[in-house]
This record gives sequence, C-alpha cells and structure tokens, in this order.
Amino acid sequence: MVKFRVYFNEYNVLMDNAVYLPIVSGQLQAYAQTKIIIKDNFEFMPFIFYRDEPDRILSQYQDPSVAAFSVSMWNSNLSLKVAEMVKEKFPKCLVVFGGYNVPNNSGDYLKEHNFIDITVRGEGEKTFADLLESNLGEQNFEHVLGITYRHKSGEIMENPEQILPKNLDVFPSPYLEGVFDELMTQSKINFQAIVETNRGCPFGCSYCSWGQGGLSKRYRFFSPERVEQIADWTGKSKIGYVFCADSNFGMFKQDFDTAKFFVEAKQKYKFPEKFRVCYSKNAEKNVFKIGKLLHENQMEKSITLSLQTANPIAARNVRRQNIRMDVFNDLQKRYNESGIPTYTELILGLPGETYESFLGGLEKCLQSGIENQLFVYHCQVYPNAEMGSIEYQKKHGIKTVKCPLKEVHAVPRLEGIPDEYEDVVVSTDSMPEQDWKKSSVVSWAMQLFHGLKVGFYPIRYIVDKYNVKYTEFFDYISIPSKTPDFPIINREIIEFWKTADSISNGKARCNVISEFSPIYWEPEEASFLNISHEKKEFYREFLGVLTNFLKERGINFDKSELEEIVKGQEVRMPDYNRDYSGDKKRFAKEVLLWGRKSGRILLDKQLQ
Ligand code: SF4
Repeated sequence: MVKFRVYFNEYNVLMDNAVYLPIVSGQLQAYAQTKIIIKDNFEFMPFIFYRDEPDRILSQYQDPSVAAFSVSMWNSNLSLKVAEMVKEKFPKCLVVFGGYNVPNNSGDYLKEHNFIDITVRGEGEKTFADLLESNLGEQNFEHVLGITYRHKSGEIMENPEQILPKNLDVFPSPYLEGVFDELMTQSKINFQAIVETNRGCPFGCSYCSWGQGGLSKRYRFFSPERVEQIADWTGKSKIGYVFCADSNFGMFKQDFDTAKFFVEAKQKYKFPEKFRVCYSKNAEKNVFKIGKLLHENQMEKSITLSLQTANPIAARNVRRQNIRMDVFNDLQKRYNESGIPTYTELILGLPGETYESFLGGLEKCLQSGIENQLFVYHCQVYPNAEMGSIEYQKKHGIKTVKCPLKEVHAVPRLEGIPDEYEDVVVSTDSMPEQDWKKSSVVSWAMQLFHGLKVGFYPIRYIVDKYNVKYTEFFDYISIPSKTPDFPIINREIIEFWKTADSISNGKARCNVISEFSPIYWEPEEASFLNISHEKKEFYREFLGVLTNFLKERGINFDKSELEEIVKGQEVRMPDYNRDYSGDKKRFAKEVLLWGRKSGRILLDKQLQ
C-alpha cells in the first residue's frame, strides 16, 4: 500500500560542523507514530534539518502529502521560500507552519502567504497528529484544536486552543524511540541535543513569548525516569553538547537530580561534554549547588546570573521579576570564592531605561565583582511577545529596525539562501536613538576592556585605588575626541560608533574576519582580533589613555605603579605569534570561542 509522505523541515544553523537535532520535528513524529491509523497510512521521510539552498531542499521532495515547517527567527524566510516552491510544484500538498516566528494571530500571515494552509499555535504534538488524521479524509479541520486554517471556502478560520496534557510523559521521546537513529548513523555532522524536563513559565516577561498563545504558564513535567533515560541516551549516543530548554532551571528541587543524571552519563560514557541550562532567578541555593556540580565535572563553562536590567522602572515595564541586588552580589561573591566563572546579561533598549540608568546598571554589575563576562544584548522583538504588539510599542514609544541576522559564531549562509532578519529596538520614549548608540558603544568598550580582559587589571586598579567608577572610564574612552593621539584605540572606538550607526540604519551587527575564522564575530570580538596585530603599540596607547583620564580628573597617581600594572596586563594577554606559532585560527578559537565564557582568556604569566 502506498503511504502518504510527510516531510519535516526544521532548518538549524551549522556551527563548525555541529548542529542541533531537529527536536520539534522528532517530537511531532514520535507522538504521531503512536496512532495506529497514522502509522498505517503515513510514511515519515528523512528530516530536512539544516539550512541549504531552496532548490536543493525542494529536490528532496517526492510526491509529498504533508510538508511541516518549524519556523524560528533563523529560518523564517527560508521556510517561506521552500513552502512556496513546494506548493507550486505539488499543489495538493498540505503546508503546515508552526514555531516561535509564526504569529499566534495568524490571519494576516495566512493572507500574506497564500501557500500556507494551516498554522499551529503552541505545543504541536497532539495538534499535528489530529491534522494528519483529518487529512486522511475530507480534509475537514473544523475539530482540530490549536490551529488557524484556510477553509475550502477561502475563509480563514481560527479554532480554539489545544488542551494540554498535565503529564508530559504521554509524549514519547524522539531520542528514546529511535526517531533520529537513521539520521545519526548516516551523517558526519556532530549533533547537539535539546532536552526538556518541564514546559511552562509563570513569569510572562514582555520581551518573551513564553506563556502566550498555546504555551502554558503553569508548569507540567516529564517524569524523572524519563529524564534519566534521556541523559543516558545522550551519553551513549556521544552527544557532545546538550541544551536544556527548561525556562528556569534550578527552580525545582529535582533539577539537581537532572544535573546529576547528565553528570553520571558523562562519567559513564565521557558524553555529553557540556550541559547548558538557563538558570532560575529566584532559587539561589539550588542554583549554586547545581552550578558547582556541573562546574566540578567540567560540564558548564560558566554560570549565568541573569539580570537584564537593574532599573526598577524598566523591570516593571517588561514585567521582569529580578533577582534582588543583595542576593546577586552575594552569589557573585560565592561563585568567585569557589572559582566558578559567571556571566551576567543586560538588555539594552528596555522601555523605561535611560542612558544614566543603563550606566548605573553596568556599574552595579561590575562593582559586584564580576570577573568573567558581563554581556549586553540589544533588545529584540519577537512576534508573539507582548513587546511585539503595536499597543505596547506605542505605549513606550518603541522604535525598531529590521536588521539582517548574522548569527554570532555561525558560518555565513551560502549564496542563494534567503537572508533572515531580527527586529532591534533602537529607541524608546526614555532613551533617544543617540543615547542608544552611545550606550551600545560604551557596552562594546566595556566588553572589550573588561569581558575580553584587554584592560581588566589596570581598570580595576584605578577603580580600587583612585575611587573612580568603571563606567566613568568606559564613558570617557567611548568619546573619540578623547583619544586623537592614540590611533589604534581611536580607530576601534570609531568602528563601534559606525556599527551603532549601521544598526540603526538596518545593517547587521556581526562581521566576518576571515584570517581568524570564516564565522561571524561580535563587534568587541572583532576589535579584540584587530588589536592582536598591534599588541605592543596598543598597550603603549592604553597607558596614555589611562594617564590622560586620571590627569583630567586631577588625580595624583603613581605613574610607575600604573606602568607596571599595564605591563603585567600586556604579558598576560595571549599573543598569536608568541603563544600560537602564528596560527591565528587556533588563537581565535581557543582564546575567544572557548576562553570567553569559561574565563580562560588570560595567560597564567607574571612579569619577569
Ligand atoms: S524570559 Fe525566561 S522567565 Fe521571562 S517569560 Fe521568558 S522564559 Fe519566563
């Protein structure tokens, strides 16, 4: 008997020959297969799982009955392009879209893209299985919950929400059911895995789509037995990198057991090598315990201490329940004492944030003793987040710009693959565009000098000894007219300003520097690499800038001590000629890609 063919499309980003297994497609298939009627009538074709040219993707289709697309920011336009081509070539094929980048209210989306038949909201397992069953008969989708679809009359219909099961074990695991076995034996790619122990998030931050349209606020769980089996599978299957998609890892006591399952898998099989999670903000004791366990087993480069903003007005505007600052400081201290690197994230562009409050937030984080990374991300707007609504944007005067998406550390997409875009907030009522640009430049300067360690010790020295603020210095160095006599530093700062200008004009943030690796680098990383060509000269200039900064403030400083500190810093900065025999690619990989989050940028050298 000829079966109806189902094609799953979930185009993930290739990073250095590593790619995530298409988890959404696998979950849909694993559940659908539990229904005898589906098993008897449908054939699931090989997953189409990484970004490729549309023609090449289309050539994999043969007489499709259903084409399902899991749509995210990094594959949205490619999915639309392929779907259009599929519909043109196979008009009877049912085209189904779901995922974070498909609007929950998708009436207009369906009108705009008339080659899509159905969109699915939220969790897809039950809905997709119902769709397949309905597609066997009259294609009557009236009773399928959680979808918006094009009725035969041409009208667009929105059905009620899907009913979500309390116990997630009703959904079989694609890993344990062997759904990916064939894919993994046939491919030379290094696969990474996404796992989940629960679904849900009660917080509803305005910039996030969790808790909206078919995604539950209330937590629902997989059993510990299931989680343990999956951990064992990742080890046995030699998965190097596992990402846990739980919204607030550490919030539940059993999360420590989950971490233990993955540690045990590593001890047994040497895999997974890394286990990444997004930590809860309000469970410091459990989080510390988990972080310590993962760090001791070299499974996590560093622990995230999320903040996003230190400004209570901005936090309130985005419904963010932040960690208390005293708890944050205390945790920072404990991690530092235990030798566990941490990193913290701030988001630039949240409504209610001003230039002054943003700098205040940077200062608080730096003063808390962060030794590793303080990342600043530009605020992005997602279609299903509260921030994506016109009302919210109007209320806070939010202006966004559509910029090409160049995913950090990814290989540029091949020619012929459509560009993807991100919506970046470049101004709000409280932060005019010029202040946003200035904040961006200060942030890149901070990440270069502090996070990437280029000026870490001398800056900490002047802060401690002469009682200046970190942000006073970063604000100073971000003004090009302060550094005309220091061409390397001046050039890099001007480059930051140009990048901020470009973003506000709809250009991408990241760039490739081929001699170090054909991947996209963040602005501060690109600057780090540029400086590495002229290290000696750069430190001569840096001493000059520090000297001018202190003099301008009338500070009577110890010149020889400052010189000594700057020299010590220079010695500890890795050098691609001296330390990597001129191998720039290895230098960039080991120092930036591997060293940044794990706090291993600096060499363990002392001045002779
Ligand atoms: S950002 Fe995190 S805490 Fe906030 S709603 Fe999203 S998942 Fe929940």
